[in-house]
Amino acid sequence: MEKILNYIDGAFEAPCSDQYLDNYDPSIGKVYSLIPDSDERDVNKAVDAATRAFPAWSTLPAQERSNILQKLADLIDRDLDKLALAESVDNGKPVSLARRLDIPRASANIRFFATAILHTSTETHITDAEAINYTTHAPIGVAGCISPWNLPLYLFSWKIAPALAAGCTVVGKPSELTPMTAFLFSKLCVEAGLPKGVLNIVHGLGAKAGQAIAEHPGVAAISFTGGTVTGKKIAATAAPMFKKLSLELGGKNPNIIFADCDFENAVATSIQSSFANQGEICLCGSRIFVERPLYEKFVEAFVKKTKALVLGDPLLNETNLGALVSAAHKQKVMSYIQTAKQEGGKILTGGNAVNPTGRCAEGYFIEPTIITGLNEHCRTNQEEIFGPVVTIMPFDTEAEAIALANSTPYGLSATLWTENLKRAHRVSAAVKSGILWVNCWLFRDLRTPFGGMKQSGVGREGGWHALKFFLEVKNICIKL
Ligand code: NDP
Repeated sequence: MEKILNYIDGAFEAPCSDQYLDNYDPSIGKVYSLIPDSDERDVNKAVDAATRAFPAWSTLPAQERSNILQKLADLIDRDLDKLALAESVDNGKPVSLARRLDIPRASANIRFFATAILHTSTETHITDAEAINYTTHAPIGVAGCISPWNLPLYLFSWKIAPALAAGCTVVGKPSELTPMTAFLFSKLCVEAGLPKGVLNIVHGLGAKAGQAIAEHPGVAAISFTGGTVTGKKIAATAAPMFKKLSLELGGKNPNIIFADCDFENAVATSIQSSFANQGEICLCGSRIFVERPLYEKFVEAFVKKTKALVLGDPLLNETNLGALVSAAHKQKVMSYIQTAKQEGGKILTGGNAVNPTGRCAEGYFIEPTIITGLNEHCRTNQEEIFGPVVTIMPFDTEAEAIALANSTPYGLSATLWTENLKRAHRVSAAVKSGILWVNCWLFRDLRTPFGGMKQSGVGREGGWHALKFFLEVKNICIKL
């Protein structure tokens, strides 16, 4: 069985413990590879390597860093099919989605930051005729980058690309549930000529390997994407050490549909924003609010389109929804469906775990599920489910829609459907989310700030925000 290895100081290494964890293919419910069960000894080696590599990498001319990173992006494009297949097998997502979204975004992330560093500028402040101030931005040191399982290479690259481009060296930890594409990526780093120690990838459990990264005094900054509970733990560890922290956490995003919307577009895109990647995207709109005059018509069309979605083998091109990432996650999502029923929710479609016939009979599949009849305060509408489950609720006024949208502790993203431009501006300003999409969803421009309010996170990624996170700012004042 294939053994994944850590990538430390430019070499592939077994974990110090010599212990491995099972890695499952969730579409068949079977172990198909082994993951290093790394601990703080592996993290120490990785931080040492990153520390040694830092002086040379951080002072390499931007063009040379850019050339290596662009080569890496080209290699991802070259291996698109191989990486997409690996992502699908590891995560359970449809291979067509991995080919269309995950892997192209990974190379786009790297290319974006690799070229951004060629176009930086800095500020100068002239203080009357007395002094001149100029500001420098220097890479902060060794960065810890910890990423989740839902968009494995997409989110891993979204973190390490700005860090490496900025001149930091990195110790990264992908989710233990989906380590494969990060492993394949580490092989591409060698091929691209990334100097040893610049990127180190330690595989293993979050509570062990991840926690060791957060705790290590040699790691100056932590960029984390994952659940809010884990984010709190990392903040509790890293904040007293005065580490720089970027936290991209969970969401419970509203999808607000006004009666004057472009109906066909709103329905079709809401299918995507509800069920893409089995609903395992932090930006999915899991609470749909529909203005009452449109409510019945929307529900009817939405249920009809949901029933037409194809659930099953992720390797088939016609599949719309694949498997959930793990047996434990499947159980968690099913328990929320149970909770919704206990709370008085009505299941309009779905609600069941499924065992497709053939190859995927033991996989972790759940039907796309639509629930009505719940209020905004119940657990189903307050807690992140992170699966193919949405609720629909009617509203009567714009003020009510805003109050419903803002009624959770989260504030990551929101989607808004209206043809009324003034209303679009008003509601966008009032909804407490870091990202607002009007008449679209997941339409991304990598230059824009990305991140959440309230319990959805601290800080912003994207564009200069991401690069600046990995840079230390210094002002130099020269008296004239
Ligand atoms: P987790 O918080 O469970 O894990 C995220 C990462 O942190 C994993 O690599 C995990 O390792 C690691 N980890 C776990 N415990 C610790 C610890 N104590 N110290 C350091 N690292 C640790 O999230 P999931 O992987 O379950 O991802 C789903 C969550 O991510 C959802 O809540 C989702 O909303 C959120 N998310 C947010 C996004 C955003 O941009 N705001 C984007 C995508 C997802 P391991 O898996 O090995 O335990």
